[in-house]
Amino acid sequence: MEKMVYFYGGGIAEGSAKMKNLLGGKGANLAEMARMGLPVPAGFTITTEVCDYYWKHDRSFPETLEAEVEAALKRLEEVSGKKFGDKDNPLLVSVRSGAAVSMPGMMDTILNLGLNDETVEALAKNTGNPRFAYDAYRRFMQMFGDVALGIPHHDFEEALNKVKEEKGVKLDIELEAEDFKKVVELYKEIYKKAGKEFPQDPKKQLWIAIEAVFGSWMNERAIKYRAINGIKEGELLGTAVNVVMMVFGNMGDDSGTGVCFTRDPNTGEKVKYGEYLPNAQGEDVVAGIRTPYPLEKLNEILPDVYKQLIDIMDMLEHHYKDMQDIEFTVEKGKLYFLQTRTGKRTAKAAIKIAVDMVKEGLIDKATAVMRVTPDQIDKLLHPAFDEAEIKKAQEIGEGLPASPGAATGKVVFSADEAEELAKEGTPVILVRPETSPEDVGGMNAAEGILTATGGMTSHAAVVARGMGKPAIVGAEEIVIDEEAKEFEARGVKVKDGDWISIDGTTGKVYLGKVKTIKPQGLEGEVAELLNFADEIRVLGVRANADIPRDANVARNFGAEGIGLCRTEHMFFEGDRIQKMRRMIVSKTVEQREAALEELLPLQKEDFKGLFEAMEGFPVTIRLLDPPLHEFLPQDEEQMKELAPQLGITVEELKEIVENLHEFNPMMGHRGVRLAITYPEVAVMQTKAIIMAAIEMVKEGKKVKPEIMIPLVGTVKELKYLDKIVRETADKLIEEAGVDLDYKVGTMIEVPRGAITADEIAEVAQFFSFGTNDLTQMTLGFSRDDYGKFINDYIEKGIYEKDPFKHVDQTGVGRMVKIAKDYGRSVNPELKLGVCGEHGGDPESIEFFHKTQLDYVSCSPYRVPIARLAAAQAAVKFKRGKFVNYAD
Ligand code: PEP
Ligand code: MG
Repeated sequence: MEKMVYFYGGGIAEGSAKMKNLLGGKGANLAEMARMGLPVPAGFTITTEVCDYYWKHDRSFPETLEAEVEAALKRLEEVSGKKFGDKDNPLLVSVRSGAAVSMPGMMDTILNLGLNDETVEALAKNTGNPRFAYDAYRRFMQMFGDVALGIPHHDFEEALNKVKEEKGVKLDIELEAEDFKKVVELYKEIYKKAGKEFPQDPKKQLWIAIEAVFGSWMNERAIKYRAINGIKEGELLGTAVNVVMMVFGNMGDDSGTGVCFTRDPNTGEKVKYGEYLPNAQGEDVVAGIRTPYPLEKLNEILPDVYKQLIDIMDMLEHHYKDMQDIEFTVEKGKLYFLQTRTGKRTAKAAIKIAVDMVKEGLIDKATAVMRVTPDQIDKLLHPAFDEAEIKKAQEIGEGLPASPGAATGKVVFSADEAEELAKEGTPVILVRPETSPEDVGGMNAAEGILTATGGMTSHAAVVARGMGKPAIVGAEEIVIDEEAKEFEARGVKVKDGDWISIDGTTGKVYLGKVKTIKPQGLEGEVAELLNFADEIRVLGVRANADIPRDANVARNFGAEGIGLCRTEHMFFEGDRIQKMRRMIVSKTVEQREAALEELLPLQKEDFKGLFEAMEGFPVTIRLLDPPLHEFLPQDEEQMKELAPQLGITVEELKEIVENLHEFNPMMGHRGVRLAITYPEVAVMQTKAIIMAAIEMVKEGKKVKPEIMIPLVGTVKELKYLDKIVRETADKLIEEAGVDLDYKVGTMIEVPRGAITADEIAEVAQFFSFGTNDLTQMTLGFSRDDYGKFINDYIEKGIYEKDPFKHVDQTGVGRMVKIAKDYGRSVNPELKLGVCGEHGGDPESIEFFHKTQLDYVSCSPYRVPIARLAAAQAAVKFKRGKFVNYAD
């Protein structure tokens, strides 16, 4: 520590805005303003390094600190023309905390330091206002006693109230100088009773205050604040201490205090925004004792000061190149700036300000992109609860925040009921133990979905995200009784038809109806900001979409193709499920082929719709993936109904269902394994894809079909399928006599596939990482059941975060890297994407960018977030496109 104290004032400054870590935000910006020649009250800052030293050396200070503070104090006296403790012209200071990161109200502040029995007289005389002087004195004693010496705040309040009562008044402003003198005497008694003495020596006061501020770095609320805001202990050195000459806003009508923003922090509009309170000190505003006026009031009272303020606001915004939140005081017609900092703002304002500043030439596009968080974009795309109403609502449970947005509706317990009520225009929330593909109609009809089990990649979560519907999954507190059509949560019984509200952004469930606010959507400045993001990002962004409607949504949100079409979702619509079931229960290949023949034209139309929505962009279509039992009913009643429709007996159907039963279906007969057993299914799907593409080409449209094989663990599986797919496709293309290019690739989602990626890359033209299954199989955590224990893992610090939400970079991430390196060592052109749910998670997107992948694919409503996150990753970590993929 070479230098521990930095002085500023009189137009000079030892510090600057660049020294935030050392001087804290407040100190660095005060120094910067002094450097710019702006009117700031002179002062000095003791560095955060001293705070660090203090806590590391048993609450003691470095030896030379005292001499440095003394020297700074002397300079302060020179610049101010006042003297500490002087009987005629005393210097008064404020002592404030200020860390590198703003922690509003978490640490201590002491004002009017330097007052004692003598200096208070001088202050009274010099201002001609004894009332003001004694009020300042008693305020100081109160703050000092409370903050620095730990005397309970309410002891002082009691004494003040006593004087008011004796006088028969209610308000502070009704007290006069003599009354405050009495208060001061009572305060001295309070100090004595607490076994302390009020120090009359200003230097003593100063050192006690400095120590109190450094001490407050470790108070309970500051520690909690850091924890809540994700600031790790040790990440910051500590707080700085700012000792600043006092200026007074309460010296009459030509004095006052205010706070202002250089732009409107709510809307982002380029208008000055703020409040002014004449004849007051900052704490009067904070305490809410008096209501401030709009900033323009200052123009009426002191037009010259107003003009100066406006000019300097402009200057500060230009200088910092961001919206500023400024505190100022007017003392007898003279304006002082007490603080400037980057202003907090709403999501809407953040976006507008960033875009406007680019247009004004103040910042570049990369800076604009970094000024908005993916969360802020997300907020604008989903409905939210009315803030006042949700505060009053009763919370009855919490689960995983699976799909963002707020929804309110009547509880229903079945998908059919959801569809029926929704048809009548009744908003419903579908509450299920879990969902299955049969529920998609009801999910689509519902305003929101709530399930008692399941994780972030469960069916309910994946489908809801795809639809852009709010959903909470794995809300274990909710105990559902489907028979009785009710659930119980935190002791509250909720029946069929009762209103509940769910917040898919926070995972919270509320009782009753809560008003929701419509989302803004992708218009105006949001669209402009995302266009900036597109110019900057290197990663492509595609969507996971299964039907043309979702593909259109995704396209409007800026998706550059489809990274995953889960074809199984198409089989649940209308009467297709019957055709699918007939295929499953077929006894011979001929029967199966006949059933498939019926499905083919339907699939072809689906694919055509997708190709049309994404014209010119790649569309990756995955062959059938889930285990077949998912397509058959599991309960007897339904089997009885279904069997005759399929032309088989109930017994036969039962036997088929039993045969399909697996102890571990996620590791069972699914993915490529189905096609190994039933290649005719792959043939039908390939035909549907290629025939749709041929029709497109014949209509003069551009198509880029990519056929994707799921769950490949060995190159031999892929070789077997690749041959079938290519033979089928090439034959059709040849017959049609068109020019059509297609690709065949694989998902990398089985660990064996990842670590033999060099072999697989000999056949595959692209890899798409299925990080849902890859996480499931690498960690050995069932993606449907992990919700039951993951919190224990997180609480105990074994996994830091939910690995199905944020990719586990150390383990699963290493799998991705290995596969990338092996794959590209064989084929440097190999296209690499991600289509697991992590493809829409900003933190994971940054990782995929760094890992040199080519694109991410996510649910349509996450596409805008992914575009922004990919751009932010590109600003943070420069990389070339497709080349130099080694770390
Ligand atoms: C995956 O496993 O990551 C994936 C995208 O496939 P699914 O979620 O359909 O298993
Ligand atoms: Mg998968």
